[in-house]
Amino acid sequence: MQSVLVSACLLGEAVRYNGGDMRCDHDILQQWQHEGRVVAVCPEVAGGLPVPRPRAEIAEGAGGLKVLAGIAKAVDSNGRDVSAYLISGAEQALELARARHIRIAVLKEGSPSCGTGFIFDGTFTDTRVKDRGVTATILQQAGVHVFSEAQLAEADALLRKIEADNVA
Ligand code: SF4
Repeated sequence: MQSVLVSACLLGEAVRYNGGDMRCDHDILQQWQHEGRVVAVCPEVAGGLPVPRPRAEIAEGAGGLKVLAGIAKAVDSNGRDVSAYLISGAEQALELARARHIRIAVLKEGSPSCGTGFIFDGTFTDTRVKDRGVTATILQQAGVHVFSEAQLAEADALLRKIEADNVA
């Protein structure tokens, strides 16, 4: 059975910067949990950041790729460089994915770690840029199919296809 990596905050774990969660009660996620295939990860907590913590964004409209390359920084709302925490968390998420042979991840949209379709531009003005966070990028580079919580149907369709292909 294929496991799926899921942002811990979507599973109701209170790991967000503000001490809350972003629980998603979608039927597909509940089915995956029932099947015992969900592997939770919060890259920012795994990387060593506390809960709560100041909000962080990737500076100057850059994305996870540039943070991983060392040419852009993730900074928190106090101006502190938190890139090393986000990179460490991304590397740990990748290790987890590799250890469990994970091909699919569903990650919380908008986060500088987990964002898959958009993140924020580093100005802390809720301005979106079409890019990925650090963990979403490292997983995608490793061949993991990365989806947001708004794409659970697509993620599930791919999951079922992978499992059917493995049986065939
Ligand atoms: Fe959720 Fe990812 Fe942020 Fe952790 S790093 S709180 S899992 S969006």
